[in-house]
Amino acid sequence: MIEEHDERETICDSVNSLVEGCRLPVRMHSTDDWPLAEIISVKEIRGVKCYYVHYVDFNKRLDEWVTEDCLDTRKVQYPRRDGTTPGTGAATPKKQAPSRPPSPINVTPEPVNGSAELQAALQKRIARKRKGTFLDNEDSQEALPPPSGGQPTTGQRSTGSLVAHHHEDVVTRMKNIELIELGRHRIKPWYFSPYPQEMVNLPCICICEFCLKYRKSRKCLERHLVKCNLRHPPGNEIYRKGSISFFEIDGRKNKNYAQNLCLLAKLFLDHKTLYYDTDPFLFYVMTDFDSRGFHIVGYFSKEKESTEDYNVACILTLPPYQRKGYGKLLIEFSYELSKFEGKTGSPEKPLSDLGLLSYRSYWAHTILDILLTVKPLVENEKPQITINEICELTSIKKEDVISTLQNLNLINYYKGQYIVTLNRDIIEQHAAAMEKRSIRIDPKCLHWTPKDWSVRAKW
Ligand SMILES: [Zn+2]
Repeated sequence: MIEEHDERETICDSVNSLVEGCRLPVRMHSTDDWPLAEIISVKEIRGVKCYYVHYVDFNKRLDEWVTEDCLDTRKVQYPRRDGTTPGTGAATPKKQAPSRPPSPINVTPEPVNGSAELQAALQKRIARKRKGTFLDNEDSQEALPPPSGGQPTTGQRSTGSLVAHHHEDVVTRMKNIELIELGRHRIKPWYFSPYPQEMVNLPCICICEFCLKYRKSRKCLERHLVKCNLRHPPGNEIYRKGSISFFEIDGRKNKNYAQNLCLLAKLFLDHKTLYYDTDPFLFYVMTDFDSRGFHIVGYFSKEKESTEDYNVACILTLPPYQRKGYGKLLIEFSYELSKFEGKTGSPEKPLSDLGLLSYRSYWAHTILDILLTVKPLVENEKPQITINEICELTSIKKEDVISTLQNLNLINYYKGQYIVTLNRDIIEQHAAAMEKRSIRIDPKCLHWTPKDWSVRAKW
């Protein structure tokens, strides 16, 4: 939602005039800087006013609750709302209408991120709800609520209702889970995730690290663990080397697991909004094994059939495992699957900021590796390779190969053809980077045959 802001900054005489949408400098806890932030929500906790703020030029994972002392009220930009005179510079603006309009029922829901794919998934979900087969779970407690930010939907199922769009927008912009406990890790979530209302606003939710079921407290989880005998993700283990394994999970056959995985992942992914219809996806979960079991490190999902050659839909390395090379291992595995399929592939866009960095670096390493090993056909001549050959060898899609060569500034157009020139710096940097990538995917350890989903009657 884009709202215009009055460029003229005004001094506000009282924090009471600060409403949702106001922008002002706010002290950021992590840095003690005062970047411009927007107020997303205001609430009073035990008599103290708290403000949920988004730092305008920063990733949403840094959004946080702050108190009055963190607000620089000397420089407030008030939001321009429809119907108000633009440039209302009054120091004390009229308070916003006390409440939002009553929740209309969106029969045709508007997708949060406008993607056609999400729209399609929501439609499917509604169609299914109408048929009364939405989430045919054996355990209804595990069924997912819509991303309403908590409005219970019991009794509304047949209407396919979603709550008011604006309200939903504010709710989904705010982190709703304080902390999760997953195996031996305690992790602070980065973004909103549509866990059911009873899970929200708890000091910590406890998640079974094997089946990903969530419980309100450690006590509840302990009761679950007595019954839960899983020590690895469901599905087939299709890769194992050293302590690293990959499990392939069918989103239709293991719906509960797939949905719980999406809920967990959403805590750390800002842009993907598909948690309901897991049927069209396969999930590849990477685990690290020790005597207590196969511990989830990260995963990626992949459409069973992609018309646009996507080989990854969502991809995530859980925070405790980040910056250790696991992200690249996930990416490498996704291209290994594409090689087995004899196709080139590309991740679905948009990528998250961290995802894009990992991909750029993976593409650069992989392509440089190929360029450095090409041998000339005739001795003493310059080695030659075509872009298509690079694509075939790596399964990286052509656009990504070209953009990588351009980003690395390696490509030059000379006498009617592209010439790649590798200088010593690039080669040395590459060698150093490859040395750091100690764990790699070994294609010999992948036991997998691609399925042709298009010939199957139904997923
Ligand atoms: Zn479990």
